[in-house]
Amino acid sequence: MLKSTVFLKDEAETERFGRLLALATSDLPVTAGNGELKPAATNGGTIYLHGDLGAGKTTLARGLMRGYGYDGAVKSPTYTLVEPYEFSRYNIYHFDLYRLSIPDEVEFLGVSDYFESQNLCLIEWPENGGSELPKADLLISLVIENQGRRLSWQANSERGQEIAERLLEFSRIL
Ligand code: ADP
Ligand code: MG
Repeated sequence: MLKSTVFLKDEAETERFGRLLALATSDLPVTAGNGELKPAATNGGTIYLHGDLGAGKTTLARGLMRGYGYDGAVKSPTYTLVEPYEFSRYNIYHFDLYRLSIPDEVEFLGVSDYFESQNLCLIEWPENGGSELPKADLLISLVIENQGRRLSWQANSERGQEIAERLLEFSRIL
């Protein structure tokens, strides 16, 4: 399964990488000109975002939402646990499980509907989700390095392999 890494020197680069992640998870073919387009749809997937507080997970999620053409505020769902973004043909769910002390609470969110294959789910603090949480297709980790961040990604399923490969291709051509 594909693994790769990139150094992101500032917040703008983290957001930009989030836009690449939008393209990589979308229905757009990998073509240089497509970097300017907004995807018509996501091809879905479950992505875990690992990293300490302040590592840049929410910044990355914001970039991804911008990439899908969402211009409103992208708030950290620390208190609400999940922030839904509803598009006409699909939804994107941004979870932050930092405050989830009893993993089985996830069940009460009715999350099984969220993880339908046409939806994209981004999950901060997945380690708090317990056994109820669906397996990740793609694992992303952010670690503070000098003044910037080291981002690593790793495929964890066939779908994740596709996203990981597209991410690498988009990051090369854009
Ligand atoms: P998390 O969700 O992981 O707790 P946030 O995205 O909320 O982190 O906050 C990350 C902080 O780090 C923000 O202040 C942001 O400006 C900053 N930041 C994000 N990416 C980078 C980067 N590549 N280099 C330096 N600072 C960054
Ligand atoms: Mg956060």
